[in-house]
Amino acid sequence: MADKKTDNNKRQGKGNACPVFSKCGGCQLQNMTYDRQLSFKQAKCIKLLGRFGHVEEIIGMKEPVHYRCKVQAAFGRTRGGKIVSGVYQSSSHRIVLVDECMLENKKADKIIVDIRKLLTPFRLYPYDEDTGRGFLRHVLVRVGYHTGEIMVVLVTAVPQFPRKNDFINELLKLHPEITTVVQNINPAHTSMVLGKDEKILFGRGYIEDTLCGCVFRISPTAFYQINPIQTEVLYNTAMEFAALTGNETVMDAYCGVGTIGLVASKQAKFVVGVELNPDSVKDAISNAKRNKAENIRFICGDAGEYAVQLAEDGEKADVLFMDPPRAGSDVKFMASAVKMAPKKIVYISCSPETLARDLAYLVKNGYKVKKIQPVDMFPHTSHVETVVQLSRKRPDTYIDLKIDLDELDRTAAEAKPTYDEIKDYVFKNYGLKVSSLYISQVKRKLGLEVGESYNKPKSADAKQPQCPEEKEKAIIEALKWFKMI
Ligand code: SAH
Repeated sequence: MADKKTDNNKRQGKGNACPVFSKCGGCQLQNMTYDRQLSFKQAKCIKLLGRFGHVEEIIGMKEPVHYRCKVQAAFGRTRGGKIVSGVYQSSSHRIVLVDECMLENKKADKIIVDIRKLLTPFRLYPYDEDTGRGFLRHVLVRVGYHTGEIMVVLVTAVPQFPRKNDFINELLKLHPEITTVVQNINPAHTSMVLGKDEKILFGRGYIEDTLCGCVFRISPTAFYQINPIQTEVLYNTAMEFAALTGNETVMDAYCGVGTIGLVASKQAKFVVGVELNPDSVKDAISNAKRNKAENIRFICGDAGEYAVQLAEDGEKADVLFMDPPRAGSDVKFMASAVKMAPKKIVYISCSPETLARDLAYLVKNGYKVKKIQPVDMFPHTSHVETVVQLSRKRPDTYIDLKIDLDELDRTAAEAKPTYDEIKDYVFKNYGLKVSSLYISQVKRKLGLEVGESYNKPKSADAKQPQCPEEKEKAIIEALKWFKMI
């Protein structure tokens, strides 16, 4: 059991804080003290972003443990037949038993352990990927940090749930703090956790939480930041950089479920959010209603396409928030955004590498970097989030924007994700580890450009491990996500 002393050790990175550190792979920096982790991330930001200006000191967490309010566990059996729940071991589908994780919400972890213990007395068994038999595949728990609401999602292979009501009652007896239970049915032979069909078994099927004074609905599939404490720090920094007065027209590009736009709408004249994922847009619209925000609209579509249209119509924006995925933004979006001439751009990024590339473009095209603030959203992992404030230079201090096609091509090429980003995506979404060799094999198969001699076999009959089908599928999904295909 975690007590104060072990938590303190984890914070300090003393000893082997986690028994599955090497098998899980989730905490890349856990062997460093938290202070060292922060210095490491600061140095990374300075290296990549220092040429644009002073990098403020990274804002870390006071208590950098148990911050994950979304916890997911896979269910299976050991070779000896014991039921286990936890994470997939690196590069395999063997499950590593995790009862407690230093990143995860403690209550969520306890609920998952108790669900595991309830399975045998209820004669419910974990799903077996090889035989396709069994019931429970995953459990997902989401906790509303401020509201205390808890949602349990039982991901099952089949819709039938024998003794469902008794099972739920037993679980609620152990954890009366659970406010809703949902069954998600995923019969597909896939690494995706959630399936399409859902049944609400108890409560209202979603939870709510508050963020910067707004209420958000979190449904089983909704995208929602997992570290609520640091998300507020991040958004407050973004709002401080935007310095809204109530008169501005604001664009929230890559808006997800509308969080940044909704927080901004309280201090702006009008906000438009644009987002590619239709489910997120639906959630954004209901979030606007829930918060009685009448000065905000959401557009479902590609941020680049939409910006081009607005720029062609001669629309202007005063402040632009942009929070793209790891692959960063693209020239299509930025060229049109620049035409809309916002006085300020607040760029929120989860990848300092692609941020540096995009800042270079914005700086070349009339903007000046004023502030760079890193925030540690994911302690013990190698990720770092950064908020940048840019302001428009006076028109006579820069030459008007002209993009030639060569430049567009070059920047589009630079926008390609790195192999590490593809690996990261595949790991996060499918729990699979893939090698650069496998990525290059899949890219070659799809006719995509791969560095000339990159991982090619040395001779025609040389034997190389071939990418397994499941990993190939996951890599293809990643390439789609990064818009490479
Ligand atoms: N601002 C939100 C979400 C950021 S994640 C928040 O703070 O929670 C990045 C979002 O960009 C995702 O929701 C993703 O679906 C969206 N996205 C990715 N590519 C896009 C594109 N080309 N146009 C619009 N949105 C896109």
